[in-house]
Amino acid sequence: MSQAPVSKTIDAFVDQNSERFLDELKSLIRIPSVSTLPDHAGDVRKAATFVADALRAAGMENVEVIETAGHPLVYADWLHAAGKPTVLCYGHYDVQPPDPLDEWISPPFEPTVRNGNLYARGSADDKGQMYSQIKAVETLRAAHGKLPINVKFLIEGEEEVGGEAISKYVPEHREKLKADVALVCDTELFAEGLPTLCVGLRGLIYTEIEARGPAKDLHSGMYGGAAPNAVFGLVELLAKLKNADGVIQIPGIYDDVEPPAPAEMKSWRALPFSEEEFLKSEVGSSRLTGEPNYSVLERVWARPTLEVHGIAGGFTGAGAKTVIPAKAIAKVSMRMVPGQDPEKVVAAYKKFVAENTPAGIQTEVRILSAGPAISVNPDHHAIHVAAQAFADVLGKETVFIRSGGSIPIVGEFAEYLGIPSILMGFGLPDDGLHSPNEKYKLANYYAGIKTIAHFFEQYGEQSGK
Ligand SMILES: [Zn+2]
Repeated sequence: MSQAPVSKTIDAFVDQNSERFLDELKSLIRIPSVSTLPDHAGDVRKAATFVADALRAAGMENVEVIETAGHPLVYADWLHAAGKPTVLCYGHYDVQPPDPLDEWISPPFEPTVRNGNLYARGSADDKGQMYSQIKAVETLRAAHGKLPINVKFLIEGEEEVGGEAISKYVPEHREKLKADVALVCDTELFAEGLPTLCVGLRGLIYTEIEARGPAKDLHSGMYGGAAPNAVFGLVELLAKLKNADGVIQIPGIYDDVEPPAPAEMKSWRALPFSEEEFLKSEVGSSRLTGEPNYSVLERVWARPTLEVHGIAGGFTGAGAKTVIPAKAIAKVSMRMVPGQDPEKVVAAYKKFVAENTPAGIQTEVRILSAGPAISVNPDHHAIHVAAQAFADVLGKETVFIRSGGSIPIVGEFAEYLGIPSILMGFGLPDDGLHSPNEKYKLANYYAGIKTIAHFFEQYGEQSGK
């Protein structure tokens, strides 16, 4: 694709200002905005103010630090591109706690450059990526004197603790947040140098099963052989949920699963992915498990799962106590894929549990959360433009992947604003998010700023709207 002269101005501006852009990011990273630690509430607020000031300096208008029951949200907009589309930029300024501290080579909140990487807590997740969006706006205003599209920002400070405030804010401010598409920068490239857009996220149903046997804990010498055991009953039940091949045994669970399109399957097969390497460097077990007729990428991206996260009950202390436990509890989740209706799955799951609860045991199922899978149509105009801009900057064809995890905000934007999200991330698989020595590749920081700016420019040019 031929590049307009203005695009060259964008790249030149980013190159000329690279040092200042880095210094600013370092200042933001030095604020230890750990959202889960009450002692850091002041720092979280300081980071919100920093982001608000940066948005103002980049030329954004109506900048607000919005008070919530928890940490503040930051909003800003620039809405003077009449007839052009509107992009809602999302990111987060809060970070995970830095511990274990003694494993950091340089201090977590003293950003340090080594080997072309910026090492610090929050460098990749998500301050570096979020700040790229702000610098892209600044760059476009420097290049054009204005923005080629309308832009809104909604930045949160609770992503690492569940995002309660934003979940409440979005449905209550549909008009204010109205946009054509959201730009979520909080993901990663599939591999170094490979422009990547994520177009599918699995949903999640999280449950708790409580099993009750005898009215109280009993002596196994006196009652063993006649009284039901809550722990054993729960284990019997759990064992029926999935067979040895990893196939979920709940009737109808696979009925609505939409298989990936042939084009999607073809592109997955072309990704630089080795099952052997995945087993060795990521899983670290003796072998991989799961449905035999599906590739690993299909199993983690496009198939439903059922996992037990924990079981508690009975006696687990040192030594021996001969108890028949009265109560046991398990945390069980299912990942949903496109086509599956969480309500239908929950109903089938509850029915299965009721029908397969062993004699003498009573079970109760509690649903802690239930969210559907999200998929973005790769043929959406904005996705096309984003893929082209990404390919232009990195010089390689953009790949479309899915993620096995969930990003709740993407579901909320879809549900309440009716818009798709472009999941355009610049992290790398080995960035060490949430771990000691988190890093962000500097080249990706600058490529991110350029890609976002090019995307906005091309989206404005190619949309009469
Ligand atoms: Zn994040």
